[in-house]
Amino acid sequence: MTITSTPENESKSLADLVTEDQLADEQKQASWKPVSSDYTGQCPQCARPRMLLCANGKHVCEKCQWCPEDNAYAPNI
Ligand SMILES: [Zn+2]
Repeated sequence: MTITSTPENESKSLADLVTEDQLADEQKQASWKPVSSDYTGQCPQCARPRMLLCANGKHVCEKCQWCPEDNAYAPNI
C-alpha cells in the first residue's frame, strides 16, 4: 500500500485581492470628481445652490457632499 501525500498549498494570493480593492477605491474616488465648477442646482439636503456634476454622472453638493441620486452622502471627494 502506498500513501501518496500531496501537500497542496491552496493559500489564495492576498496581494492580488488587495490590489483589486485598491484599484476599485481609486476608480470610485475618481468617479466622484466634479467634471466642471459650474453649479447645477440647489442641494436638497442643505439648501445651498452648490450641486456639482461628477464624472460618474451623479450630482454631489460641494458643501455637504449629499448625492441626490444615491440618497446618501458621497464618499470623500
Ligand atoms: Zn448640501
